[in-house]
Amino acid sequence: MKTTSPFLLLLIPLALLTQSCTKTLSSTPQTEYVMGTFCTVNLFENESPKLHTEIFDRLRELEDILSANKENTNVSEINTAAGIFPVHAEKETLEILKIALEFSTSTNGAFDPSIGPLVKTWGIGTNEAAVPSLEKITKALSLVDYTKIEISDNTIFLPQKGMQLDLGAIAKGYAADEIVKILTKHNIKRAIIDLGGNVFAHGKKTRTKPWTIGIRDPEVASGNPVLSVSIENKSVVTSGIYQRNFMENGKTYHHILDPKTGFPAENDLLAVTIISSSSILADALSTSAFLLGLEKGLHLIEATKNTEALFITKNKDVFVTRGLQGQLNIINTQYTIKN
Ligand code: AMP
Ligand code: MG
Repeated sequence: MKTTSPFLLLLIPLALLTQSCTKTLSSTPQTEYVMGTFCTVNLFENESPKLHTEIFDRLRELEDILSANKENTNVSEINTAAGIFPVHAEKETLEILKIALEFSTSTNGAFDPSIGPLVKTWGIGTNEAAVPSLEKITKALSLVDYTKIEISDNTIFLPQKGMQLDLGAIAKGYAADEIVKILTKHNIKRAIIDLGGNVFAHGKKTRTKPWTIGIRDPEVASGNPVLSVSIENKSVVTSGIYQRNFMENGKTYHHILDPKTGFPAENDLLAVTIISSSSILADALSTSAFLLGLEKGLHLIEATKNTEALFITKNKDVFVTRGLQGQLNIINTQYTIKN
């Protein structure tokens, strides 16, 4: 059994390279391990230790509210009180959960923020990762049901003992948007935020040029970029099988779990990348589209305004939404754009 090591996680921030930003701009990237991943902030103007502190303090604050893997966070308190009593919800928890539930509805339950018991049963990304017995999977699945989550003005109640929220599919997107708010408040116009591969390219690279973001090899944890795209003021978020996984008996098991089967979602996809001006939407959509698979996933993104996506299949075919056609630059010619 092999699990994802912190070293592999260290490589995730390389997933989307800001390839050419160092040519004309200089900055001192700051990296810290927060929210279960390596977070890097690159400010290309008005850098200051004070601003870095403000940004990372906010990230730690969000971790202390949203983490399902740390004791005494708001989400952990809600989980511990499942089946017993409603818990006061922080505004961040409520805001994120409400958005998550919209995706549960639009994906017909594939995206489910009450996935916690199943995530814990698989333990993917921990040293205990292993294929659980069918009995354990069935038990965990009996506790996963987003329609049972009860939200009032400022409380959240999970009515069944053992139910658990897990906002891991959406929290980093929220966090990236929060950092952008801080940057805007300080009038910072150029920055790259990379929260474990959840990237926000804030502003433009120069007054006239957009950022170039590399999309890395979806099969390799430390992969080189295989495609790139030019963007400004947008988030680029990828969900894929390489991010957290383990191997058992020659088969790879990844961390995006299908609440219908209880197993990692199985389809033709290696990864889905979403480009959107909202990082929380990009994060929720990347996980959702991966769960839905190529056809339904593309349909979901095409139906979402101002949002583009690229889907990379196991055959190295790349399918893009209409707005992204002609916009991708191929770096690795093993990849073929199909539409
Ligand atoms: P992401 O990397 O954004 O695609 O999110 C993956 C993470 O979301 C996993 O590590 C779990 O914490 C959580 N997750 C796994 N399966 C689901 C699901 N079906 N619905 C919502 N969250 C999920
Ligand atoms: Mg996500």
